Amino acid sequence: MIPPGSTIGIIGGGQLGRMLCQAASQLGYKVNVYAPDPDPPAASVASLYVCADYGNTDALAAFAADCDVVTYEFENLPVDPLETLGDQLQPTTASLAIAQDRAHEKRFIEEQGGKVAGWHIIDSADDLDAAAEQLGYPLVIKSRRLGYDGKGQAWVREHAQLMDAWEAIDREPAIAEAAVDFLAEFSILVARKANDEMKVWNAPRNIHDGGILRRSEVPAGHPVDQQVDEAVAIACKLASEMGHVGVMAVEFFATENGPLINEIAPRVHNSGHWTIEGALTSQFEQHVRCICDLPLGDTGLVAPHVTMDNLIGSEVESWERLLGEEDAHLHLYGKREARPGRKMGHVTRLG
Ligand code: ATP
Ligand code: MG
Repeated sequence: MIPPGSTIGIIGGGQLGRMLCQAASQLGYKVNVYAPDPDPPAASVASLYVCADYGNTDALAAFAADCDVVTYEFENLPVDPLETLGDQLQPTTASLAIAQDRAHEKRFIEEQGGKVAGWHIIDSADDLDAAAEQLGYPLVIKSRRLGYDGKGQAWVREHAQLMDAWEAIDREPAIAEAAVDFLAEFSILVARKANDEMKVWNAPRNIHDGGILRRSEVPAGHPVDQQVDEAVAIACKLASEMGHVGVMAVEFFATENGPLINEIAPRVHNSGHWTIEGALTSQFEQHVRCICDLPLGDTGLVAPHVTMDNLIGSEVESWERLLGEEDAHLHLYGKREARPGRKMGHVTRLG
């Protein structure tokens, strides 16, 4: 067990890292952050900020030497340099290696009995035709690595667009995926300790726009509620088989034929931000409890209805109005520039 008073290291400096820092410090931990950016959201709330590249093994080793446990808030990290941290890194690189490559991730999910949309590897122009033959149209080409918020994806509605779509993502190694005619999207957040003890929260219904999460809402309602048991069972199996220690999210499509897995995020997740005010234990605190081997907290709801809305780009300018709203809990990430599509904050409402 790593008791309060110890030091937690976080690799990655975004808003997820910032909220992890806040939860860890509430439990009496010191938190150090490591990221390559000059002034990331987590740096201003950490005890120590180390600005260095993710691949810099000397800087990583020096950072880890000051920490009792190290975790990450971002999955697009090079695995090899982090391997040197061994078990001091929780979750370990095993979770990263699976979740950061869409092809590895889909194979792993299928091996564990999870269902995914039809997909095909794209390494060459020939693969494009084979994929279209197998999947039909529309389909979406997604880069295997480094995608987030819908980036590195291109939709294809007809044969003539196939090559252009792959060109649009710079002919990166990719997958093609069949379009899913979903009824709703939802996610299961699983917290797992090394002894295989697990807790899940109520599944939020997630509404995306242009590949970016707009809103998460609990309870999710029909048809998600009817598919949650099956989704929780497979999400827990995936966490267990990955040997994942910490919180992870599994994103689902609710379809006519039951839940299909979209992807795994091996970390705290935007669709779990509502848990800060909406659940007895937040995903951030629970992650700290998992990696420090503390008792897990209750994940029950504190209100019958909870919604979390992201503040994207210039929407953050409404902060003053939101502060005046009763029962609105405002979170601002301290990012200087409100670029279009950038997640600047979120607001959670209990009702
Ligand atoms: P993030 O990491 O922010 O979740 P991402 O870049 O990994 O995003 P995906 O989760 O693959 O992107 O896709 C983003 C959204 O685009 C999905 O939540 C869904 O709304 C839509 N989408 C993705 N793939 C499909 C598909 N095969 N069929 C229908 N909609 C899809
Ligand atoms: Mg996603």
